[in-house]
Amino acid sequence: MTTIAPLRVASRWDDEQAAACRSELELRAYTSRLLGQDPRLVLHGGGNTSVKLTETNIFGEADDILWVKGSGWDLSAIEPAGFAPVRMQHLLHLAELTELSDVDMARELRVGTIDPAAPAPSVEAILHAIVPFKYVDHTHADAVLTLTTSVHGAELIEHVYGDRVLHLPYVMPGFKLAALCADLYARLHGAATIGMVLMNHGIFTWAPTARESYERMIDMVSLAETYINQHVGGRSGTSEPAARSYSSLEVAALRREISEVAGASMILQVDDKPDAVAFANRADVSVISQQGPATPDHVIRTKRLPMLGRDVATYARDYERYFAEHAHRSAAPLKMLDAAPRVIVDSHIGVVSAGRSAAAASVAADIYRHTIEIILDATELSGYRALSASDIFDVEYWDLEQAKLGKGSPLPFTGEVALVTGAASGIGRACAELLLLQGAAVVGLDLNPGVAEVATGPAWFGVQCDITDTEQVTTAIEGAVKRFGGIDIAVLNAGTFPPSQRLEALDMGAWRSVMGVNVEASVFLLRQLQPLLRLAPGGGRVVVIGSKNVAAPGPGAAVYSASKAALTQVARVAALEWGGDGIRVNVIHPNAVFDTALWSAEIVEARAREYGVSVAEYRANNVMRVEVTSKDVAQMCVAMCGSAFGKTTGAQVPVDGGNERVI
Ligand code: ZN
Repeated sequence: MTTIAPLRVASRWDDEQAAACRSELELRAYTSRLLGQDPRLVLHGGGNTSVKLTETNIFGEADDILWVKGSGWDLSAIEPAGFAPVRMQHLLHLAELTELSDVDMARELRVGTIDPAAPAPSVEAILHAIVPFKYVDHTHADAVLTLTTSVHGAELIEHVYGDRVLHLPYVMPGFKLAALCADLYARLHGAATIGMVLMNHGIFTWAPTARESYERMIDMVSLAETYINQHVGGRSGTSEPAARSYSSLEVAALRREISEVAGASMILQVDDKPDAVAFANRADVSVISQQGPATPDHVIRTKRLPMLGRDVATYARDYERYFAEHAHRSAAPLKMLDAAPRVIVDSHIGVVSAGRSAAAASVAADIYRHTIEIILDATELSGYRALSASDIFDVEYWDLEQAKLGKGSPLPFTGEVALVTGAASGIGRACAELLLLQGAAVVGLDLNPGVAEVATGPAWFGVQCDITDTEQVTTAIEGAVKRFGGIDIAVLNAGTFPPSQRLEALDMGAWRSVMGVNVEASVFLLRQLQPLLRLAPGGGRVVVIGSKNVAAPGPGAAVYSASKAALTQVARVAALEWGGDGIRVNVIHPNAVFDTALWSAEIVEARAREYGVSVAEYRANNVMRVEVTSKDVAQMCVAMCGSAFGKTTGAQVPVDGGNERVI
């Protein structure tokens, strides 16, 4: 048993880095990044910052400008270009209005900018303008949320901060919040007031300099952390993983149901670490997990409530009821978002997050991991109390919040999971890269450990794996399901191409070894994947990389030709057996794809010499006189997984520039 060490925020201000900033705006970006890079302060797009500067306009006149975080920028990586310059005069004038609709506010913030190319200003721009200090920092720091979501939150804030911060009851972010702060100047208790706590939302600090405003944020959050550490006993946990009490198929079945309710394929990410399982098994989990998010901003990523257990239909009905209860308050008609959960708390699995993409699922996972800590700490302080359902609903269906999720049509394989063997190079790598580009989450298997670095980001999972080792394959599949929730597409590409050998000289060990990789390993993989492919929300798809040699074998290539023919025959049987389960199995027969690991420049030159032709002629030795590349094969693979082949199974398509012996 180990005690989870309390991690604390600390100032990461660095004199050298600060001195390297060539303008106040660069300095503003620098301390914003310091905030954004500490997940205890800022998570995924949360928080915003600003600086007030005087700029000279084109007429040579001085203009007071608020440079405020633009929407679409994340504080962790913000640059000067991520700040929108808005005229202070315009913002302060807006603050005097008694009412301003969201639509009007968004337009007026745009109207007030001095640069038409700037990003849309943060919805908190008016509030930043009202604060009578040059630098303003705003975060949804965990420790502050813990205090303000406690039942006695208001007293705790008073106790911890006294006069140093103003504290405001929760109001909807945007104009309503700015309006509440309109008389801010009058409310400041002189120099002692260095910030403002918004109940169930977050904290602002301000100062004349970037460093002071940033360090005040650190100081204020530290005070909250100290209080929590003094009043909450360290949670004990174990680093030993508990015995797994669920199967990959259960996760894939859950993913299918969630995808059906969402109306699109979803990615699921499983956290079965001991603390996640312990949370899911707490006696009070049905109370503490069903209160709501720690700050309303999180609702668009996690939904208001996690699903407890796996009854997706009941969760969806409850969500529809919640929508019906609150939608009528909206002046404009609202369209219900999908009713599928984004967080699932299950006593056997642990905590599962869901999203339309691997990135969305991992954002939900991060946010909920922090939420659990906040819930547990607040529960120990005086009880966890989230905002009312109606307050959360207003933010969930706030246009300005939904805009954060981005619009536009999704990529064709968004929410789908593909497994590609031999993904570190050649055709496998090209297939993996193209599937990633088209929105899929991809699991790449390869003997080469370099497979881990084929791509970066949450949608790539590269696993070093010997596909002839059944245990390694089983572990890789389990890992893939934990990471993405299931497998929809399998690209069987890994294979070996032995040196030329005539039959009479055939080495039987080599025969068995090639058959082991090219046939047996693929058969085992297909066998293991079938139950997962059956559960693919969009139907399972298998693409087998065969060879021209199936139709047109060459002398000296008995093993290779026979192995690819056997594999093709297995694929045809799979197409027959699995079609009823919605699984399509198709075969590509490439020929002479020279940009793969099998073909070095020297081998190609030697072959060209053998045939008495130039290298260029040898490379394009087909009916169309074109070179065939890994990318060409990958494009066919992706097409076979898409709607063009939606009603095709058992097909064999050459990608070879046309071969006289095949045609
Ligand atoms: Zn906020």
